Amino acid sequence: MYKRVLLKLSGEALAAGAGFGIDAVFIHKVAAEIATVHALGCQIGIVVGGGNFFRGVAQQAIDMDRVAADHMGMLSTVINAIALQDAIEKLGLFCRVMSAIEMHQVAEPYIRRRAMRHLEKGRIVIFAAGTGNPYFSTDTAASLRAMEIKADILLKATSVDGIYTADPKKDPTAKRYETVTYNDILRLELKVMDTTAVSLCRDNNMPMMVFSMREEGNIARVISGEQLGTIVTP
Ligand code: UDP
Repeated sequence: MYKRVLLKLSGEALAAGAGFGIDAVFIHKVAAEIATVHALGCQIGIVVGGGNFFRGVAQQAIDMDRVAADHMGMLSTVINAIALQDAIEKLGLFCRVMSAIEMHQVAEPYIRRRAMRHLEKGRIVIFAAGTGNPYFSTDTAASLRAMEIKADILLKATSVDGIYTADPKKDPTAKRYETVTYNDILRLELKVMDTTAVSLCRDNNMPMMVFSMREEGNIARVISGEQLGTIVTP
């Protein structure tokens, strides 16, 4: 079992089947799975996405300035973080939201040493607002925070059960990789996460597991050390 993990939850995943907003039933299931592994002694940091509300790149199509759109995207991750914190706290756990954009009334500012202290004290930490910078993604934020908190592994929960040779929703011949390297992802242009996030993990030797959170229990299984989906090695 891992001692400390960084779990990346995409916004889309929190919307479950709806595609937009937060699925109230699903977020409580996610919180319950996190509570199960937390009870076993794993320290858990979480980076949440915001794509279920707002994606910077997509808004450029309606002629929005990219920086303005990215600011909106980062704020949407804060909405998800607060919802997840609420669901986790309802289970009697201690949970802190730390935001990369300062907003003292709703979240603590992200201070690495303070984040480490929360984790050591057994508090679950949700990292909100991505990296705090436009032109980045929450995948990059997840890679960065994973390294900063010295996580054993980056666990990327998505709606697909691993990394495939092609998009399995479009290509029925697509095959799933058991293991793959970051260099393979870059060379073969596999759609896993953006290249900034990939190269950050590669250059700093951060392993990653990409798995589906659609099936109940998967989050608990991977944090407990079971291999699901695809393992990415540096
Ligand atoms: N974003 C950003 N900087 C960051 C992280 C996120 O500008 O460091 C913005 C960006 O517009 C992005 C949006 O926040 O589209 C939501 O994040 P993301 O698309 O990564 O969420 P996910 O796909 O995981 O739901």
